[in-house]
Amino acid sequence: MHLQPNLEQDACAECGAPRVEGMSCWEQFGALLAWEWQDPALQAAHFLIVASYNLQHPAQFTDEALAGLRTALVDYLENDATIAHLRGRISHLAEGKTRVLRREAERQPVLRRWRMTIADVYLPGRPEGAAMRVKTWVAAIREEM
Ligand SMILES: [Zn+2]
Repeated sequence: MHLQPNLEQDACAECGAPRVEGMSCWEQFGALLAWEWQDPALQAAHFLIVASYNLQHPAQFTDEALAGLRTALVDYLENDATIAHLRGRISHLAEGKTRVLRREAERQPVLRRWRMTIADVYLPGRPEGAAMRVKTWVAAIREEM
């Protein structure tokens, strides 16, 4: 019996992003970050990219860490917080004053559908406009979170 390839099976179990040219969601994230080296606008958006990706993959994070990420994102979008301020917030979270990661046994990824995922931002061979796509991605997450 010939089975159709199951696209759903290949999609990310947490954010629902499809594989793109064989790349998993995590690999697309890495490829987008690699573009930062040649794109200052994208580099400037580094913390937004990481925050957005993490917010769409919440299972590994503690509730406290996620709340901090959400607040940092909202601050950035609505209160005109500078990237430096945002960076301070996130590194505070990363420096272990609060526990950031859940123990592996506690992680339970739940599939959630988003309007945009990393697969809409990382377009293979099309680095131009990536920083703008990041901004659209962040705005979509803000509306849906
Ligand atoms: Zn994903």
